[in-house]
Amino acid sequence: MTPRVLIVEDEPDIASVLQDYLRVAGYDTEHVADGRAGLERLLQDPPELTLLDVMLPGMDGVTVLREARVHMHRPIILLTARIEEVDRLVGLDAGADDYICKPFSPREVVARVRAVLRRTQAGAAEAAPVGRALVLDETRWQATLDGAALSLTRREFHLLQVLVRSPGRIFSRGQLLDLAYDDDADVTERAVDSHVKNLRRKLAAAAPTHEWIRSVYGVGFAFEPAGAS
Ligand code: CA
Repeated sequence: MTPRVLIVEDEPDIASVLQDYLRVAGYDTEHVADGRAGLERLLQDPPELTLLDVMLPGMDGVTVLREARVHMHRPIILLTARIEEVDRLVGLDAGADDYICKPFSPREVVARVRAVLRRTQAGAAEAAPVGRALVLDETRWQATLDGAALSLTRREFHLLQVLVRSPGRIFSRGQLLDLAYDDDADVTERAVDSHVKNLRRKLAAAAPTHEWIRSVYGVGFAFEPAGAS
């Protein structure tokens, strides 16, 4: 079955170039130019993935996303005007699977669509993991990868735990501070960076071919299940 991508975008030139590139890449596409109409389509006939502009007539993209999330969990990528906007959107925790900043290259959009679909499909098949199993034993703060123990500090373990619980979700440094460091008010965002760096090094030592923790430029970090890269 050919995956269908719904494009909710009020700028006709952007919508048409995205449609062209996505079709060449093998996706079916559908386009609506209005937020309310977009929400209607999302709920009536959920596409495999939605590209959703934030600034839209009828209903803004964040509201569309929130309403849609009550009923359906298929991936949604937000298209935003500025990188600073992404920080705010992550803070709102509206439930997007990824964010793309305008202006973007259509090639980049196709790559992100492909990556998000691969990741979410990998997530759906998680019930039967094949190799590359990362297991977190929460009673002993012990993480194992393919059966081999990773020697993580308690701090690194908590950080990994927060990321792993929501695969693909992008966390800002501030959110990680709130979620993984609730017992320590003195930790800085720079410390989060250094803990993430240590975690990535330990994960990479055990499984060098997979990037478990993705950096999202200017925003934060996301956990990528194996099979997603
Ligand atoms: Ca717009």
